[in-house]
Amino acid sequence: MVPTKIPVKVRRRPLKADLGYTQLVRDANDAPSHFWIVIHSELSHEACWLVLTHEWAHVMSWVEHDLVCDHDYEPWGRAYAKVYQEFVGI
Ligand SMILES: [Zn+2]
Repeated sequence: MVPTKIPVKVRRRPLKADLGYTQLVRDANDAPSHFWIVIHSELSHEACWLVLTHEWAHVMSWVEHDLVCDHDYEPWGRAYAKVYQEFVGI
């Protein structure tokens, strides 16, 4: 995966409404500490990687653009393309 300035922790657990999500965790001084990427534990191996790629793009766009997150926001699309290309090795 593409490195980021803020550490990223990944875990899998059962989710009811989402395939996965990304959450920024702040420290006691309200500074960004790390991200949690949580992926539904019942997804197949292939689906898990696709969700991880999607969520990693959220981390990248948040870190590089003042933590703004939106699928329609161009930086997320560029980040997703970059992560996906790295993932498939193009
Ligand atoms: Zn998303």
